[in-house]
Amino acid sequence: APRDELVLKEPAHRRVMLLVNPQSGRGQALSLYNSHIQRMLQEAGVAHSLVITERQNHARELVREMSLVQWDALAIMSGDGILFEVINGLLERPDWEQAIRTPLAILPGGSGNALAASVHHYSGSTPVSSEELLLSCGFLLCKGLVSRMDLVSIHLSSGARVFSFLSLAWGFVADVDIESEKYRHVGAARFTVGTLVRIASLRTYRGRLAYLPAALDNCNDQNNLQTSWPVSNLYSFKNGCSISELNSCHSNNSNNREENIRHSNLSGPGPTDSLLPPLDQPVSSNWVVVPEEEFVLMLAMYQSHLAEDLFAAPDSTLEDGLIHLTYVKAGISRTALLRLFLSMEKGAHLTSNCPHLFHTKVRALRLEPQSPKGIITVDGEAVEYGPVQAEVHRGLARLITG
Ligand code: ADP
Ligand code: MG
Repeated sequence: APRDELVLKEPAHRRVMLLVNPQSGRGQALSLYNSHIQRMLQEAGVAHSLVITERQNHARELVREMSLVQWDALAIMSGDGILFEVINGLLERPDWEQAIRTPLAILPGGSGNALAASVHHYSGSTPVSSEELLLSCGFLLCKGLVSRMDLVSIHLSSGARVFSFLSLAWGFVADVDIESEKYRHVGAARFTVGTLVRIASLRTYRGRLAYLPAALDNCNDQNNLQTSWPVSNLYSFKNGCSISELNSCHSNNSNNREENIRHSNLSGPGPTDSLLPPLDQPVSSNWVVVPEEEFVLMLAMYQSHLAEDLFAAPDSTLEDGLIHLTYVKAGISRTALLRLFLSMEKGAHLTSNCPHLFHTKVRALRLEPQSPKGIITVDGEAVEYGPVQAEVHRGLARLITG
């Protein structure tokens, strides 16, 4: 039977597989499990089996091969890395369409706990960190309410495709993500340390960026009522979506449909990407090509938090079907960039009127880096460097939320 219930079975009948990465964060996930989660689940009467991951890709391979029918939920106690493995493992299965509906849950045990922080935020609670965040997420797992979650399909230059639940980053943010791995012992503060170090050696990154604005949906397809924006919203995007873009979408209207069908023909399991032409072919004429070619960062987010204290996409929700695209163009001063990151803790960066910052909502994007070497991250993990493109799949996964 298709899994589409919004509430899990009552605790006593619920079977949860809990995957713990003992190496995540400061290496404390197992002791945090023993000190907090085990008893919490026991008291709530939630039966669970513990699986301790032994190496990189262990969770991905396990989830790809195992029988899913006996599990009501797969919970992950780690950073965002193991959830990335689990989601990709599920979508590599021949029965991916069913498998990706398995309710997932996140318990923050790593140094990068962005999804846990996002879920806590969506539950309407005031911001907390570390152990309080763990308790909050443990409580949500006991409650067992299930929501749909957006996933983003990402094409890499090798032709490989990965699925992402959190972010695609290039430039400053990607560099901090990877360089800060060596400060893992300070836990979630690793991003603050990494940001300060990177600001001291600030550089720019050359590349071309193009995107398909979400605001075009209205005029492209009047029958698509999945997202019906109030008209006033069309004009409320800061900077990124200008009136001329809106006008051009009216004039391009007739071409779009055929062009969108010329989609990428990647084979293998997982949903079809209907908005993306092959990476070596130009994007459709209804895409916006960003005029700048010199950047400090490009950050595409589909959840609210980039880290426990980085409220990077304040109006993102779990299932809005949107990629929240931010980029900072070259020329920003170190002080202004520092100010942006400081205001991000409260999510105030988007209203800071920084002339170098652009923010818009899109359905798909393409980035072609021109700097010879660099870092691109997906959900905080480095992927192969080169041209990438991405398309959002609304509500493809299931997540336990409050
Ligand atoms: P963090 O937020 O601390 O980085 P993650 O959940 O992202 O935590 O995990 C970091 C990495 O650890 C992932 O790439 C994952 O594949 C890897 N991993 C999982 N289990 C183990 C293990 N037993 N030993 C070493 N690495 C592991
Ligand atoms: Mg979202």
